[in-house]
Amino acid sequence: MSAIPSLADLHALNPAQQPSYPDPAAVDAAVARLRTAPPLVFAGECDELKDKIAAVARGEAFLLQGGDCAETFAGVTADNVRNKLRVLLQMAVVLTYAASVPVVKVGRIAGQYAKPRSSDFETRDGVTLPAYRGDAVNGFDFTAESRVPDPQRLVDVYNSSAATLNLVRAFVTGGYADLRQVHTWNTDFVRESSVGQQYEAMANEIERALTFMKAIGADPDEFHRVDFHSSHEALVLEYEHAMTRIDSRTNTPYDVSGHFVWIGERTRQLDGAHVELLSHIRNPIGVKLGPSTTPDDALALAAKLNPANEPGRLTFITRFGAGKIRDGLPNLVEKVTAAGVEVAWVCDPMHGNTFEASSGYKTRRFGDVIDEVQGFFDVHRSLGTWPGGLHVELTGDDVTECVGGGEDLTDLDLAHRYESACDPRLNRVQSLELAFLVADMLRQ
Ligand code: PEP
Ligand code: MN
Repeated sequence: MSAIPSLADLHALNPAQQPSYPDPAAVDAAVARLRTAPPLVFAGECDELKDKIAAVARGEAFLLQGGDCAETFAGVTADNVRNKLRVLLQMAVVLTYAASVPVVKVGRIAGQYAKPRSSDFETRDGVTLPAYRGDAVNGFDFTAESRVPDPQRLVDVYNSSAATLNLVRAFVTGGYADLRQVHTWNTDFVRESSVGQQYEAMANEIERALTFMKAIGADPDEFHRVDFHSSHEALVLEYEHAMTRIDSRTNTPYDVSGHFVWIGERTRQLDGAHVELLSHIRNPIGVKLGPSTTPDDALALAAKLNPANEPGRLTFITRFGAGKIRDGLPNLVEKVTAAGVEVAWVCDPMHGNTFEASSGYKTRRFGDVIDEVQGFFDVHRSLGTWPGGLHVELTGDDVTECVGGGEDLTDLDLAHRYESACDPRLNRVQSLELAFLVADMLRQ
C-alpha cells in the first residue's frame, strides 16, 4: 500500500468544508500536540468492529448507529453521556429481543464535534458572520470573536472525546449495561409514555427469561456487558491526520480517534482529500450517499476505499429523503450488488428530511423518518439484499426538535426545548418508538 499522504498533500487537493485558520503557527502547535497524544481507541478494537460489520454485510446482524448531530464540549457531563447511552441500550435491546437479530452498537459519540455546513455564513437580523462549524472549529455564540476558527479546539476535541469514551467504557463494562438493568433504563418521563409501557412489558419478558437461564445455571458474560463503539464524521483533516498512527501489530495505519469514521455527503468527492485519507486507514469506514449519487459514483468509491473488497470495511449510509428513496435507491443497490461489491447498507432517515418549520426552527417529521426507513426496507426486501442498519440523530433527553411521534409534537412545541447545536434530533420517546417500529419491519 502506498504511503499515507502528508497533511500538505491533502491540502493540495483543495479539501471541502475546512476551517480557515488565521494563525498557521497555532495550527502547527495543535497538530504537534495531537500527534504525541495516546490513541483513543485500539486498532484491534477497530478490527473487531470490522468483523461485526462484516456480519451486517452478510445479513446476519443489524447496525444501530446514533447520537447527536453535533456533540458540544459543554455536553460532556455524566448525565448527558449516560442518557445517550441509555436510549441506545434501550433501542438495541428492543431490536435484539423483538427481532431476534444481533445488534452492533455504535454511538455518534466521543468525537462528533465538526460539522459540514451548506453555507459558509450565517445571517441574523442583518448581521452576517462565519457559520458555526462545530465545537471542533469555532464557537456557537453569534459574535465575530466566537466564530473565528481556533485550532486549540482540536486539542479540546481530543480531551472531550477521551473523557466521554472513558465514561462510556466504564458504563458498558461496569454493570450499567447488564441486562438485569433492563427495567432501570426505562426511567422517568419515558416510563409514563405509551411506548414506555410497551417497553416495560417487553422488559418483564426478558427478566423472566433471565431468571429461567439463571435457574438452569446459565449466566454468560454477554448478559453483563455490551460491546459499544465510537464513531464520528472524519471532517477536519488536521485532527484526523494527527490521529492516524501505524499499528505496531500489523504495521498498517489506523485513525485512532474513533472506531468507525465516515465521510459526509459534502466531502465524498472521489479525488478529494477525505476519500484520499480514509483510503489509507484500516478502520471500518462509512460514506454518506445522497439522492444525487449515481451507481458509478458508488462503484468508484468502493473501488478506491475498499480495493480488496474486504467485508465489513465499507458501509454505505444512504440518506435520500422519504420522497426519493423508493425511486432512487433500487438502481444504486442493484448495480452495486451486481458488481459483487461487499458493503453494509445502512439507512440515515434524518438528513434527507430536514425542513424549516413555520416557527423558523430546523426540524424533521417523525412520520418522514419512519417512511424513509420503511422505504429502505421495502427496496432491500424487493431486491433480496439486507437492510443492514439505522443511522440516527438522537438524544437521551426530552427535547422538542422533531415534530410528530406518539407525543404528537407540533411546530408550536419546538420552542419549548430546542437544544441541538446543529440538526434536530429524535428525543428519547421518539427514539424508542422508532426502535419498536423497526423491530416490526425486521420481523416481517
Ligand atoms: C451528519 O451526519 O450530521 C451530516 C452532516 O450528514 P450528511 O453528510 O449526510 O449531510
Ligand atoms: Mn446532522
